[in-house]
Amino acid sequence: MPPKSTYQAYTVANFRTIPQIADWSEEKLQEIEIAAQIIPFKSNSYVVDELIDWSNIPNDPIYTLTFPRKELLRASHYRAMAAAVRLPAEERRYVAKKIQKHLNPDPSGQSANVPWFHGKQLHGAQHKYRETVLFFPAAGQTCHAYCTFCFRWPQFSGLTQSKFMARESQPVADYIRNHPLVTDLLITGGDPMVMNADILDGYVAPFIQEDIPNLRTIRIGTKSLTYWPYRYLSDPDSDKLLKVFEKIVKSGRNLAIMAHFNHPVELSTKAVTDAIRRIQSTGAQIRTQSPVLRHINDKPRIWNELWRRQVDLNMVPYYMFVERDTGAKHFFALPLRRCWQIFREAYQRVSGLCRTVRGPVMSATPGKVQIIGVTEVAGEKVFVLTFIQGRDSEWVERPFFARYDKTATWLHDLVPAFGEDDFFFEQDLKGLLSSRMSPMG
Ligand SMILES: *Cc1c(COP(=O)(O)O)cnc(C)c1O
Ligand code: SF4
Repeated sequence: MPPKSTYQAYTVANFRTIPQIADWSEEKLQEIEIAAQIIPFKSNSYVVDELIDWSNIPNDPIYTLTFPRKELLRASHYRAMAAAVRLPAEERRYVAKKIQKHLNPDPSGQSANVPWFHGKQLHGAQHKYRETVLFFPAAGQTCHAYCTFCFRWPQFSGLTQSKFMARESQPVADYIRNHPLVTDLLITGGDPMVMNADILDGYVAPFIQEDIPNLRTIRIGTKSLTYWPYRYLSDPDSDKLLKVFEKIVKSGRNLAIMAHFNHPVELSTKAVTDAIRRIQSTGAQIRTQSPVLRHINDKPRIWNELWRRQVDLNMVPYYMFVERDTGAKHFFALPLRRCWQIFREAYQRVSGLCRTVRGPVMSATPGKVQIIGVTEVAGEKVFVLTFIQGRDSEWVERPFFARYDKTATWLHDLVPAFGEDDFFFEQDLKGLLSSRMSPMG
């Protein structure tokens, strides 16, 4: 086995060399191979050696998180892929892509969020909510390992073209300077922390100039603290990377590392706690988020421990998301009522400092919709909902009601309560979406 701080990727091409699975049956290995044609497979030596408990397969949460398995696919898709797996590469990929397209690879109308600027579409950026611009640097469109629930896999599996990613950040910086209401930039991916320090430095430079005083926060969304904490400890450019963080903080801006943690075991190693301390020593703040996922974290006590442990490590719990309507949804999804119960039971049992977390939240086409709870109004059982973020800021913090539905797993499964035809935002949303498709200048 290589030293733990030497990154070794495992993919469908070499996973049979993982020492911990040396005695697995051929059938079991082939199941992984077949599922991996659809759900991109990438794990690594840290995940395999330090996070997964190999005595608890297949139930281990981190195994479930990074190893594709038969149950992630619908039976008919699995059968079709199993039949195609021995075909020549081109035909096999054709079958795989066809199945992938059935799995809703562009959920929540994300392609409608690409902004227009000086008569051109600003590729590599999304601007959905007034205050925040998302930025997708081309060099950050992969991850140190892949999550089996991820909806970004069109990027990894070549279903979207790389022209949607940004090669340089100056045009996005110009856009933000011209939109004074924008205060936040969210650098996302993939995982931006796969970039080397010099490349990240180059991307960040235009955003920390004095001529963009409206830009106050730079957020970096990352799963690297789970998948490769050595990024901040022993990679050749670890020290340089932390210098880039320091530079952002010294520019007078808030640097928020938006860390994705799905389970408390991800916070259990010395490497991760050391990495967290080093990031914090630059003046950066770490906020945390995760979807609630069946088979991985569908128990209140897991969330209770996750938030508590995060606060122990001076991090700030931020969002609990509902699993999106994409990919292996049938495997991971929980009914909305169950998401709310898990949130509520966990939230009741932590101190106020852990209650910075908001959820459960659906990041859907009209905005981020929070499930406030289930109750009865005028004799009708209802979900009480509100917008934490809206395509129109006027929608934010306005409660609304949906008819209770015990099987609903997403916003589009819900209908308005009290016999109404539409939710209050639906007419405006149609208008906003059609205007987004054309230049706004
Ligand atoms: C969540 C999200 C943001 C950030 O919203 P905050 O409420 O400020 O955290 C920005 N853009 C998109 C598309 C998002 O989904
Ligand atoms: S780290 Fe994020 S972008 Fe990468 S596979 Fe996981 S969820 Fe997807």
